[in-house]
Amino acid sequence: MEYRVTNFINGELKASHSERFAAIFNPATGQQQGQVALASAAECSEAIAIAETAFVAWSQTPPLVRARVLFRFKELMELHRDELAELISREHGKVFSDAQGELTRGLEVVEFACGIPHLLKGEHSLNVGRGVDSYSMMQPVGVCAGITPFNFPAMVPLWMFPVALACGNSFILKPSEKDPSLALRMAELLKQAGLPDGVLNVVNGDKEVVDVLLTDPRVAAVSFVGSTPIAEYIYATASAHGKRVQALGGAKNHMVVMPDADLEQAVSALMGAAYGAAGERCMAISVAVVVGETTADALVAKLAPLVEALRVGPGLGVVPENEMGPLISREHLAKVRGYVDQGVAEGALLRVDGRGVSQGEGYYIGGSLFDRVNPEMRIYREEIFGPVLAIVRAPDYETALQLINEHEYGNGTAIFTGDGDTARDFTTRVQVGMVGVNVPIPVPMAFHSFGGWKRSIFGPLNMHGPDGVRFYTKMKTVTARWPQSLRAGAEFAMPTMK
Ligand code: NAD
Repeated sequence: MEYRVTNFINGELKASHSERFAAIFNPATGQQQGQVALASAAECSEAIAIAETAFVAWSQTPPLVRARVLFRFKELMELHRDELAELISREHGKVFSDAQGELTRGLEVVEFACGIPHLLKGEHSLNVGRGVDSYSMMQPVGVCAGITPFNFPAMVPLWMFPVALACGNSFILKPSEKDPSLALRMAELLKQAGLPDGVLNVVNGDKEVVDVLLTDPRVAAVSFVGSTPIAEYIYATASAHGKRVQALGGAKNHMVVMPDADLEQAVSALMGAAYGAAGERCMAISVAVVVGETTADALVAKLAPLVEALRVGPGLGVVPENEMGPLISREHLAKVRGYVDQGVAEGALLRVDGRGVSQGEGYYIGGSLFDRVNPEMRIYREEIFGPVLAIVRAPDYETALQLINEHEYGNGTAIFTGDGDTARDFTTRVQVGMVGVNVPIPVPMAFHSFGGWKRSIFGPLNMHGPDGVRFYTKMKTVTARWPQSLRAGAEFAMPTMK
Protein backbone atom coordinates (compact mmCIF):
# COMPACT_ATOMS: atom_id res chain seq x y z
CA MET A 1 0.00 0.00 0.00
CA GLU A 2 1.44 3.33 -1.03
CA TYR A 3 1.63 6.01 1.62
CA ARG A 4 1.59 9.79 1.37
CA VAL A 5 3.99 11.96 3.33
CA THR A 6 2.88 15.47 4.25
CA ASN A 7 4.09 18.14 6.66
CA PHE A 8 4.21 18.48 10.43
CA ILE A 9 3.12 21.98 11.34
CA ASN A 10 2.01 23.40 14.67
CA GLY A 11 2.16 20.02 16.39
CA GLU A 12 0.26 17.96 13.88
CA LEU A 13 0.52 16.15 10.59
CA LYS A 14 -1.06 18.47 8.12
CA ALA A 15 -2.33 17.55 4.68
CA SER A 16 -0.60 19.62 2.02
CA HIS A 17 -2.50 21.85 -0.42
CA SER A 18 0.26 21.32 -2.91
CA GLU A 19 -0.46 19.73 -6.23
CA ARG A 20 3.16 18.74 -6.69
CA PHE A 21 4.43 15.37 -5.45
CA ALA A 22 7.66 13.40 -5.58
CA ALA A 23 7.74 9.62 -5.63
CA ILE A 24 9.39 7.74 -2.76
CA PHE A 25 11.04 4.56 -3.94
CA ASN A 26 12.20 1.48 -2.10
CA PRO A 27 15.81 1.32 -3.32
CA ALA A 28 16.00 -2.40 -2.51
CA THR A 29 13.25 -3.25 -5.00
CA GLY A 30 13.11 -0.22 -7.27
CA GLN A 31 9.37 -0.01 -6.62
CA GLN A 32 7.56 3.18 -5.73
CA GLN A 33 6.29 2.87 -2.17
CA GLY A 34 4.93 6.31 -1.45
CA GLN A 35 4.67 9.95 -2.37
CA VAL A 36 5.75 13.12 -0.68
CA ALA A 37 3.82 16.33 -1.16
CA LEU A 38 6.16 19.15 -2.18
CA ALA A 39 4.92 22.10 -0.15
CA SER A 40 4.23 25.43 -1.78
CA ALA A 41 5.90 28.72 -0.87
CA ALA A 42 2.68 29.76 0.89
CA GLU A 43 2.67 26.65 3.07
CA CYS A 44 6.27 27.27 4.02
CA SER A 45 5.48 30.87 4.85
CA GLU A 46 2.66 29.71 7.10
CA ALA A 47 5.04 27.35 8.92
CA ILE A 48 7.46 30.25 9.47
CA ALA A 49 4.67 32.33 11.01
CA ILE A 50 3.82 29.47 13.38
CA ALA A 51 7.46 28.98 14.33
CA GLU A 52 7.80 32.71 14.94
CA THR A 53 4.85 32.69 17.34
CA ALA A 54 6.04 29.54 19.13
CA PHE A 55 9.49 31.07 19.58
CA VAL A 56 8.22 33.66 22.04
CA ALA A 57 7.22 31.26 24.83
CA TRP A 58 9.85 28.62 24.07
CA SER A 59 12.72 31.10 24.22
CA GLN A 60 11.53 32.15 27.68
CA THR A 61 11.20 28.56 28.91
CA PRO A 62 14.06 27.80 31.33
CA PRO A 63 16.89 25.83 29.69
CA LEU A 64 16.45 23.11 32.31
CA VAL A 65 12.85 22.58 31.23
CA ARG A 66 13.87 22.58 27.57
CA ALA A 67 16.53 19.98 28.37
CA ARG A 68 13.97 17.76 30.08
CA VAL A 69 11.93 17.61 26.88
CA LEU A 70 15.05 16.42 25.09
CA PHE A 71 15.72 13.80 27.77
CA ARG A 72 12.25 12.38 27.17
CA PHE A 73 12.74 12.59 23.40
CA LYS A 74 15.94 10.57 23.69
CA GLU A 75 14.11 7.92 25.76
CA LEU A 76 11.34 7.69 23.18
CA MET A 77 13.81 7.43 20.31
CA GLU A 78 15.52 4.54 22.14
CA LEU A 79 12.17 2.88 22.73
CA HIS A 80 11.36 3.07 19.01
CA ARG A 81 14.91 2.39 17.84
CA ASP A 82 14.16 -0.72 15.75
CA GLU A 83 11.09 0.81 14.13
CA LEU A 84 13.09 3.93 13.24
CA ALA A 85 16.06 1.96 11.88
CA GLU A 86 13.71 -0.08 9.74
CA LEU A 87 12.11 3.08 8.40
CA ILE A 88 15.53 4.47 7.48
CA SER A 89 16.46 1.28 5.70
CA ARG A 90 13.17 1.09 3.83
CA GLU A 91 13.51 4.55 2.29
CA HIS A 92 17.28 4.93 2.15
CA GLY A 93 18.35 1.33 1.51
CA LYS A 94 21.22 1.09 4.01
CA VAL A 95 21.54 -2.11 6.04
CA PHE A 96 19.69 -2.28 9.35
CA SER A 97 22.77 -2.26 11.64
CA ASP A 98 24.11 0.79 9.79
CA ALA A 99 20.75 2.55 10.26
CA GLN A 100 20.97 1.77 13.97
CA GLY A 101 24.49 3.20 14.02
CA GLU A 102 23.24 6.41 12.42
CA LEU A 103 20.58 6.69 15.14
CA THR A 104 23.18 6.20 17.86
CA ARG A 105 25.39 8.94 16.46
CA GLY A 106 22.41 11.27 16.12
CA LEU A 107 21.16 10.58 19.63
CA GLU A 108 24.56 11.48 21.00
CA VAL A 109 23.81 15.04 19.88
CA VAL A 110 20.55 14.90 21.86
CA GLU A 111 22.57 13.79 24.89
CA PHE A 112 24.91 16.73 24.34
CA ALA A 113 21.98 19.13 24.01
CA CYS A 114 20.55 17.85 27.32
CA GLY A 115 23.49 19.62 28.96
CA ILE A 116 22.26 22.99 27.73
CA PRO A 117 21.84 24.66 31.14
CA HIS A 118 25.57 24.25 31.60
CA LEU A 119 26.41 25.22 28.02
CA LEU A 120 24.47 28.49 28.21
CA LYS A 121 26.07 29.73 31.41
CA GLY A 122 27.90 32.53 29.64
CA GLU A 123 30.69 34.58 31.17
CA HIS A 124 30.86 36.86 34.14
CA SER A 125 33.52 39.32 35.30
CA LEU A 126 33.19 40.97 38.63
CA ASN A 127 34.47 44.50 39.15
CA VAL A 128 35.68 45.23 35.61
CA GLY A 129 35.84 48.80 36.90
CA ARG A 130 35.12 50.05 40.39
CA GLY A 131 31.56 48.95 41.17
CA VAL A 132 31.06 47.73 37.60
CA ASP A 133 30.33 44.13 36.60
CA SER A 134 30.22 42.62 33.13
CA TYR A 135 28.48 39.49 31.97
CA SER A 136 27.49 37.83 28.74
CA MET A 137 24.27 36.06 27.88
CA MET A 138 23.76 33.57 25.08
CA GLN A 139 20.31 34.18 23.70
CA PRO A 140 18.44 32.26 21.00
CA VAL A 141 18.47 33.72 17.50
CA GLY A 142 14.83 33.05 16.56
CA VAL A 143 13.40 30.87 13.82
CA CYS A 144 16.06 28.52 12.45
CA ALA A 145 15.86 26.35 9.35
CA GLY A 146 17.59 23.07 8.53
CA ILE A 147 17.86 21.60 5.03
CA THR A 148 19.18 18.07 5.01
CA PRO A 149 20.46 15.41 2.56
CA PHE A 150 19.19 11.91 1.81
CA ASN A 151 22.14 9.96 3.13
CA PHE A 152 21.51 10.39 6.87
CA PRO A 153 17.77 10.99 7.27
CA ALA A 154 18.07 10.77 11.07
CA MET A 155 21.60 11.76 11.98
CA VAL A 156 21.97 14.98 10.01
CA PRO A 157 18.67 16.52 11.23
CA LEU A 158 19.78 15.43 14.71
CA TRP A 159 23.02 17.41 14.26
CA MET A 160 20.83 20.49 14.04
CA PHE A 161 17.45 20.69 15.77
CA PRO A 162 18.31 19.29 19.24
CA VAL A 163 20.94 22.00 19.73
CA ALA A 164 18.78 24.70 18.15
CA LEU A 165 15.79 23.83 20.34
CA ALA A 166 17.87 23.45 23.49
CA CYS A 167 19.19 26.97 22.91
CA GLY A 168 15.58 28.25 22.82
CA ASN A 169 14.98 28.59 19.08
CA SER A 170 12.11 27.31 17.02
CA PHE A 171 12.95 25.24 13.97
CA ILE A 172 11.77 24.36 10.48
CA LEU A 173 13.22 21.16 9.06
CA LYS A 174 13.20 20.55 5.30
CA PRO A 175 14.30 16.92 4.88
CA SER A 176 15.42 15.25 1.68
CA GLU A 177 12.43 14.44 -0.50
CA LYS A 178 13.97 11.01 -1.18
CA ASP A 179 13.54 9.70 2.39
CA PRO A 180 11.31 12.16 4.25
CA SER A 181 9.40 9.88 6.65
CA LEU A 182 11.91 9.75 9.47
CA ALA A 183 11.78 13.50 10.05
CA LEU A 184 8.03 13.34 10.58
CA ARG A 185 8.37 10.43 12.98
CA MET A 186 10.96 12.37 15.02
CA ALA A 187 8.63 15.38 15.12
CA GLU A 188 5.83 13.18 16.47
CA LEU A 189 8.11 11.76 19.16
CA LEU A 190 9.25 15.25 20.15
CA LYS A 191 5.64 16.27 20.59
CA GLN A 192 5.06 13.17 22.69
CA ALA A 193 8.11 14.19 24.74
CA GLY A 194 6.41 17.46 25.58
CA LEU A 195 7.67 19.93 22.97
CA PRO A 196 5.10 22.72 22.60
CA ASP A 197 3.31 22.89 19.27
CA GLY A 198 4.96 24.98 16.59
CA VAL A 199 8.47 24.83 18.03
CA LEU A 200 9.56 22.15 15.55
CA ASN A 201 7.91 22.04 12.14
CA VAL A 202 8.72 19.78 9.21
CA VAL A 203 8.06 21.14 5.74
CA ASN A 204 8.65 18.73 2.89
CA GLY A 205 9.51 20.08 -0.49
CA ASP A 206 12.16 21.11 -2.95
CA LYS A 207 13.77 24.33 -4.19
CA GLU A 208 10.48 26.24 -3.91
CA VAL A 209 10.34 25.94 -0.11
CA VAL A 210 14.10 26.13 0.32
CA ASP A 211 14.10 29.50 -1.42
CA VAL A 212 11.48 30.79 1.01
CA LEU A 213 13.61 29.67 3.96
CA LEU A 214 16.66 31.40 2.46
CA THR A 215 14.99 34.73 1.81
CA ASP A 216 12.19 35.21 4.35
CA PRO A 217 13.26 37.90 6.84
CA ARG A 218 11.60 35.99 9.72
CA VAL A 219 14.18 33.18 9.42
CA ALA A 220 17.31 34.05 11.39
CA ALA A 221 19.64 31.13 10.69
CA VAL A 222 20.02 28.41 8.08
CA SER A 223 21.85 25.11 8.53
CA PHE A 224 22.46 23.04 5.42
CA VAL A 225 24.09 19.72 4.64
CA GLY A 226 24.22 18.41 1.07
CA SER A 227 26.24 18.68 -2.12
CA THR A 228 28.75 21.49 -2.69
CA PRO A 229 26.98 23.37 -5.52
CA ILE A 230 23.79 23.58 -3.43
CA ALA A 231 25.73 24.41 -0.24
CA GLU A 232 27.36 27.30 -2.05
CA TYR A 233 24.01 28.53 -3.33
CA ILE A 234 22.46 28.25 0.15
CA TYR A 235 25.34 30.15 1.71
CA ALA A 236 25.35 32.94 -0.88
CA THR A 237 21.58 33.41 -0.92
CA ALA A 238 20.86 33.17 2.80
CA SER A 239 23.79 35.37 3.80
CA ALA A 240 22.78 37.97 1.22
CA HIS A 241 19.47 38.01 3.08
CA GLY A 242 21.16 38.74 6.38
CA LYS A 243 21.04 35.27 7.95
CA ARG A 244 23.75 33.36 9.69
CA VAL A 245 24.55 30.26 7.65
CA GLN A 246 26.42 27.00 8.09
CA ALA A 247 26.42 25.04 4.83
CA LEU A 248 28.28 21.74 4.64
CA GLY A 249 29.04 20.30 1.23
CA GLY A 250 30.59 17.34 -0.56
CA ALA A 251 33.82 15.49 -0.05
CA LYS A 252 36.59 13.38 -1.50
CA ASN A 253 38.28 11.87 1.52
CA HIS A 254 41.80 10.47 1.22
CA MET A 255 43.39 7.87 3.44
CA VAL A 256 47.17 7.74 3.38
CA VAL A 257 48.72 4.32 3.91
CA MET A 258 52.38 4.57 4.93
CA PRO A 259 54.83 1.68 4.42
CA ASP A 260 55.03 1.23 8.20
CA ALA A 261 51.23 0.91 8.63
CA ASP A 262 49.71 -2.29 9.94
CA LEU A 263 48.47 -3.52 6.57
CA GLU A 264 45.75 -5.82 7.90
CA GLN A 265 44.35 -2.95 9.95
CA ALA A 266 44.52 -0.56 6.98
CA VAL A 267 42.74 -3.06 4.70
CA SER A 268 39.89 -3.64 7.18
CA ALA A 269 39.58 0.10 7.72
CA LEU A 270 39.38 0.73 3.98
CA MET A 271 36.73 -1.93 3.46
CA GLY A 272 34.38 -0.35 6.00
CA ALA A 273 35.19 3.24 5.12
CA ALA A 274 34.97 2.90 1.33
CA TYR A 275 32.12 0.42 0.97
CA GLY A 276 30.01 0.87 4.12
CA ALA A 277 26.63 2.45 3.32
CA ALA A 278 27.57 1.80 -0.35
CA GLY A 279 29.93 4.77 -0.17
CA GLU A 280 27.06 7.20 0.37
CA ARG A 281 28.69 8.93 3.33
CA CYS A 282 30.29 12.34 3.29
CA MET A 283 33.06 10.83 5.42
CA ALA A 284 33.54 7.74 3.22
CA ILE A 285 37.09 7.16 2.09
CA SER A 286 37.07 7.31 -1.70
CA VAL A 287 40.83 7.61 -2.31
CA ALA A 288 43.60 5.55 -0.75
CA VAL A 289 46.98 7.20 -1.25
CA VAL A 290 49.49 4.42 -0.82
CA VAL A 291 53.11 5.38 -0.28
CA GLY A 292 55.58 3.15 -2.14
CA GLU A 293 55.01 0.56 -4.86
CA THR A 294 55.64 -2.42 -2.56
CA THR A 295 53.04 -1.27 -0.06
CA ALA A 296 50.57 -0.53 -2.86
CA ASP A 297 51.04 -3.98 -4.44
CA ALA A 298 50.54 -5.69 -1.08
CA LEU A 299 47.49 -3.56 -0.21
CA VAL A 300 45.74 -4.10 -3.53
CA ALA A 301 46.44 -7.85 -3.37
CA LYS A 302 44.72 -8.07 0.01
CA LEU A 303 41.91 -5.65 -0.83
CA ALA A 304 40.73 -6.95 -4.20
CA PRO A 305 39.40 -10.36 -3.07
CA LEU A 306 37.57 -8.74 -0.16
CA VAL A 307 35.88 -6.22 -2.47
CA GLU A 308 34.87 -9.04 -4.81
CA ALA A 309 33.39 -10.95 -1.87
CA LEU A 310 31.26 -8.08 -0.53
CA ARG A 311 27.75 -9.25 0.29
CA VAL A 312 25.47 -6.86 -1.60
CA GLY A 313 21.69 -6.94 -1.24
CA PRO A 314 18.68 -5.65 0.66
CA GLY A 315 19.28 -3.83 3.92
CA LEU A 316 16.46 -5.66 5.69
CA GLY A 317 15.36 -9.24 6.22
CA VAL A 318 18.53 -11.09 5.23
CA VAL A 319 20.55 -13.26 7.63
CA PRO A 320 23.45 -12.85 7.91
CA GLU A 321 23.01 -9.19 7.15
CA ASN A 322 24.36 -7.85 3.87
CA GLU A 323 27.40 -5.62 4.00
CA MET A 324 26.18 -3.18 1.38
CA GLY A 325 22.67 -2.14 0.41
CA PRO A 326 21.49 -0.45 -2.78
CA LEU A 327 22.13 3.15 -3.85
CA ILE A 328 19.44 5.75 -3.26
CA SER A 329 17.93 6.05 -6.75
CA ARG A 330 17.97 4.86 -10.32
CA GLU A 331 19.55 8.17 -11.40
CA HIS A 332 22.29 7.90 -8.81
CA LEU A 333 23.00 4.29 -9.83
CA ALA A 334 23.39 5.44 -13.44
CA LYS A 335 25.73 8.23 -12.29
CA VAL A 336 27.95 5.89 -10.26
CA ARG A 337 28.08 3.32 -13.08
CA GLY A 338 28.97 6.20 -15.40
CA TYR A 339 31.95 7.06 -13.19
CA VAL A 340 33.20 3.46 -13.39
CA ASP A 341 32.90 3.64 -17.20
CA GLN A 342 34.72 6.97 -17.10
CA GLY A 343 37.56 5.60 -14.96
CA VAL A 344 38.13 2.79 -17.46
CA ALA A 345 38.05 5.27 -20.35
CA GLU A 346 40.55 7.50 -18.55
CA GLY A 347 43.00 4.60 -18.26
CA ALA A 348 42.77 3.68 -14.57
CA LEU A 349 43.20 -0.02 -13.82
CA LEU A 350 39.84 -1.50 -12.79
CA ARG A 351 40.82 -4.31 -10.40
CA VAL A 352 37.27 -5.07 -9.25
CA ASP A 353 34.26 -4.20 -11.39
CA GLY A 354 31.02 -3.80 -9.44
CA ARG A 355 28.90 -3.10 -12.52
CA GLY A 356 27.95 -6.76 -12.96
CA VAL A 357 26.15 -6.93 -9.61
CA SER A 358 22.39 -6.59 -9.81
CA GLN A 359 19.27 -7.88 -8.08
CA GLY A 360 15.93 -7.41 -9.77
CA GLU A 361 14.98 -3.79 -10.16
CA GLY A 362 16.86 -2.68 -6.99
CA TYR A 363 19.49 0.04 -7.33
CA TYR A 364 22.47 -2.25 -6.73
CA ILE A 365 26.05 -2.01 -7.76
CA GLY A 366 28.92 -4.03 -6.35
CA GLY A 367 32.11 -2.59 -4.90
CA SER A 368 34.59 -1.30 -7.49
CA LEU A 369 38.31 -0.89 -7.01
CA PHE A 370 40.53 1.19 -9.28
CA ASP A 371 44.31 1.06 -9.09
CA ARG A 372 46.82 3.47 -10.66
CA VAL A 373 44.45 6.43 -10.57
CA ASN A 374 46.09 9.78 -11.20
CA PRO A 375 45.03 13.27 -10.07
CA GLU A 376 43.99 14.42 -13.54
CA MET A 377 41.25 11.81 -13.80
CA ARG A 378 37.64 12.77 -13.12
CA ILE A 379 37.21 9.73 -10.86
CA TYR A 380 39.90 11.31 -8.67
CA ARG A 381 38.74 14.91 -8.77
CA GLU A 382 34.97 14.49 -8.39
CA GLU A 383 32.79 13.12 -5.62
CA ILE A 384 31.26 9.83 -6.83
CA PHE A 385 29.25 9.06 -3.67
CA GLY A 386 29.19 5.34 -4.38
CA PRO A 387 31.19 2.19 -3.58
CA VAL A 388 34.16 3.06 -5.76
CA LEU A 389 37.63 3.24 -4.24
CA ALA A 390 40.54 4.80 -6.12
CA ILE A 391 44.11 3.80 -5.30
CA VAL A 392 46.66 6.51 -6.02
CA ARG A 393 50.28 5.48 -5.71
CA ALA A 394 52.58 8.12 -4.23
CA PRO A 395 56.39 7.87 -4.15
CA ASP A 396 56.68 9.47 -0.71
CA TYR A 397 54.85 11.06 2.21
CA GLU A 398 55.27 14.65 0.97
CA THR A 399 53.61 13.84 -2.36
CA ALA A 400 50.71 12.18 -0.54
CA LEU A 401 50.24 15.19 1.72
CA GLN A 402 50.43 17.60 -1.21
CA LEU A 403 47.75 15.68 -3.11
CA ILE A 404 45.32 16.06 -0.21
CA ASN A 405 46.15 19.69 0.33
CA GLU A 406 45.62 20.53 -3.33
CA HIS A 407 42.23 18.81 -3.59
CA GLU A 408 39.23 21.14 -3.70
CA TYR A 409 37.47 19.28 -0.87
CA GLY A 410 38.68 19.09 2.72
CA ASN A 411 36.08 17.22 4.71
CA GLY A 412 37.81 14.20 6.27
CA THR A 413 41.11 12.37 5.90
CA ALA A 414 43.13 9.71 7.66
CA ILE A 415 46.67 8.42 7.90
CA PHE A 416 47.61 4.86 8.72
CA THR A 417 51.11 4.66 10.10
CA GLY A 418 53.08 3.16 12.98
CA ASP A 419 55.15 6.31 13.37
CA GLY A 420 54.04 9.01 15.81
CA ASP A 421 56.18 11.71 14.26
CA THR A 422 54.66 11.19 10.79
CA ALA A 423 51.17 11.20 12.29
CA ARG A 424 51.90 14.39 14.18
CA ASP A 425 53.26 16.12 11.09
CA PHE A 426 50.22 14.98 9.11
CA THR A 427 47.65 16.20 11.64
CA THR A 428 49.42 19.57 11.82
CA ARG A 429 49.92 20.29 8.13
CA VAL A 430 46.97 18.66 6.40
CA GLN A 431 44.37 21.12 5.06
CA VAL A 432 41.32 19.13 6.10
CA GLY A 433 38.79 19.67 8.86
CA MET A 434 38.51 16.19 10.38
CA VAL A 435 41.58 13.97 10.63
CA GLY A 436 42.01 10.36 11.71
CA VAL A 437 45.20 8.67 12.89
CA ASN A 438 44.71 4.95 12.31
CA VAL A 439 40.99 5.80 12.39
CA PRO A 440 39.43 5.82 8.91
CA ILE A 441 36.22 7.78 9.55
CA PRO A 442 37.07 10.43 12.12
CA VAL A 443 33.57 11.76 12.75
CA PRO A 444 33.88 13.96 15.85
CA MET A 445 31.77 13.06 18.85
CA ALA A 446 28.69 15.17 19.62
CA PHE A 447 30.51 17.26 22.24
CA HIS A 448 33.06 18.30 19.59
CA SER A 449 31.98 19.97 16.36
CA PHE A 450 31.64 18.46 12.87
CA GLY A 451 32.82 20.26 9.75
CA GLY A 452 35.31 20.20 6.93
CA TRP A 453 37.51 22.82 5.27
CA LYS A 454 37.79 24.30 1.79
CA ARG A 455 34.80 23.59 -0.49
CA SER A 456 33.36 21.11 1.98
CA ILE A 457 31.94 23.96 4.07
CA PHE A 458 30.66 27.49 3.66
CA GLY A 459 30.40 29.59 6.80
CA PRO A 460 32.63 29.78 9.87
CA LEU A 461 30.81 27.55 12.36
CA ASN A 462 30.59 23.75 12.33
CA MET A 463 27.69 21.53 13.39
CA HIS A 464 26.89 20.53 16.99
CA GLY A 465 29.32 20.66 19.93
CA PRO A 466 30.50 24.12 21.04
CA ASP A 467 30.18 25.56 17.51
CA GLY A 468 26.55 24.41 17.36
CA VAL A 469 25.76 26.31 20.53
CA ARG A 470 27.54 29.40 19.16
CA PHE A 471 25.67 29.14 15.88
CA TYR A 472 22.25 28.94 17.49
CA THR A 473 22.81 31.73 20.01
CA LYS A 474 23.58 35.44 19.95
CA MET A 475 25.99 36.76 22.52
CA LYS A 476 24.89 39.80 24.45
CA THR A 477 27.29 41.47 26.85
CA VAL A 478 26.02 43.59 29.70
CA THR A 479 28.12 46.11 31.58
CA ALA A 480 26.34 47.11 34.77
CA ARG A 481 26.88 49.78 37.39
CA TRP A 482 24.41 50.41 40.19
CA PRO A 483 23.04 53.86 41.12
CA GLN A 484 25.47 54.62 43.92
CA SER A 485 28.32 55.11 41.45
CA LEU A 486 26.16 57.11 39.02
CA ARG A 487 26.15 60.08 41.41
CA ALA A 488 29.34 61.33 39.83
CA GLY A 489 27.27 62.64 36.89
CA ALA A 490 27.66 62.43 33.11
CA GLU A 491 30.93 61.50 31.39
CA PHE A 492 31.70 62.89 27.94
CA ALA A 493 35.00 61.20 27.19
CA MET A 494 35.06 57.61 25.80
CA PRO A 495 34.18 55.40 28.79
CA THR A 496 37.16 53.50 30.20
CA MET A 497 37.16 51.36 33.31
CA LYS A 498 38.52 53.14 36.38
P1 NAD B 1 21.64 17.63 -2.36
O1 NAD B 1 22.54 18.81 -2.34
O2 NAD B 1 21.12 17.17 -3.68
O3 NAD B 1 20.34 17.90 -1.46
C1 NAD B 1 20.45 18.36 -0.13
C2 NAD B 1 19.18 19.14 0.21
O4 NAD B 1 19.09 20.29 -0.63
C3 NAD B 1 17.89 18.35 0.02
O5 NAD B 1 17.01 18.65 1.08
C4 NAD B 1 17.36 18.88 -1.30
O6 NAD B 1 15.95 18.84 -1.36
C5 NAD B 1 17.85 20.32 -1.31
N1 NAD B 1 18.10 20.81 -2.67
C6 NAD B 1 18.52 20.09 -3.74
N2 NAD B 1 18.65 20.89 -4.81
C7 NAD B 1 18.30 22.13 -4.42
C8 NAD B 1 18.24 23.40 -5.10
N3 NAD B 1 18.56 23.52 -6.39
N4 NAD B 1 17.86 24.46 -4.39
C9 NAD B 1 17.54 24.36 -3.09
N5 NAD B 1 17.57 23.18 -2.41
C10 NAD B 1 17.96 22.09 -3.06
O7 NAD B 1 22.40 16.45 -1.60
P2 NAD B 1 21.97 14.93 -1.45
O8 NAD B 1 22.14 14.24 -2.77
O9 NAD B 1 20.70 14.80 -0.75
O10 NAD B 1 23.11 14.42 -0.45
C11 NAD B 1 24.38 13.97 -0.87
C12 NAD B 1 25.41 15.07 -0.75
O11 NAD B 1 25.46 15.55 0.59
C13 NAD B 1 26.82 14.59 -1.04
O12 NAD B 1 27.47 15.56 -1.81
C14 NAD B 1 27.46 14.47 0.33
O13 NAD B 1 28.86 14.62 0.37
C15 NAD B 1 26.80 15.60 1.05
N6 NAD B 1 26.86 15.42 2.49
C16 NAD B 1 27.73 16.20 3.18
C17 NAD B 1 27.85 16.04 4.53
C18 NAD B 1 28.81 16.89 5.32
O14 NAD B 1 28.74 16.83 6.52
N7 NAD B 1 29.67 17.65 4.70
C19 NAD B 1 27.05 15.11 5.20
C20 NAD B 1 26.15 14.34 4.47
C21 NAD B 1 26.06 14.52 3.10
